[in-house]
Amino acid sequence: MQDLKNYIREIADFPKPGILFYDISTLLADPMGLRMTVDRFDWLFAGRDIDKVIGIESRGFMFAPIVAYTLHAGFVPVRKPGKLPAATVSQEYDLEYGRDKIEMHADAIQPGERVLIIDDLIATGGTAVATADLVRGAGGEIAGFGFIVELMFLEGRKRLGEANIEALIQY
Ligand code: AMP
Repeated sequence: MQDLKNYIREIADFPKPGILFYDISTLLADPMGLRMTVDRFDWLFAGRDIDKVIGIESRGFMFAPIVAYTLHAGFVPVRKPGKLPAATVSQEYDLEYGRDKIEMHADAIQPGERVLIIDDLIATGGTAVATADLVRGAGGEIAGFGFIVELMFLEGRKRLGEANIEALIQY
């Protein structure tokens, strides 16, 4: 069995010069890589009474629903603006240059529900913090965060505070 890191493809200068992109598609395309990824999240979060798993567009969508299924939880998409058809709540957050916005259906999380937030990668943590704000705004409780890749030098973990944060691979 290989280390999960060996399945991640690193692409220099994508989507722009100076960025080293960590591509999880090679991990998910491999039957053992996909199984190990889902099994590890299942093992880390089973027994934590998760009601809903959020996947963040777009790479969170690629595996968060499978994690939700194994945890016997529901799946909720958090999307880029203008994609969700019903009434939404939204949250702005800072990017390296400028600001961005994410949206969630206003009725997707019920007060008191325990929510696990999943994405492919945590860099500065801005996307995850904005998602957590949406959940708290809806009255939900953050049960944890799960990432395949964590870029530790960007210290995104610090911005998430005390929460239960799990990353399968760290750089
Ligand atoms: P951040 O909000 O800074 O934590 O950025 C995390 C979001 O940006 C995630 O949704 C990632 O998919 C994406 N992202 C940021 N940096 C990278 C990278 N080096 N490789 C792949 N995805 C990245």
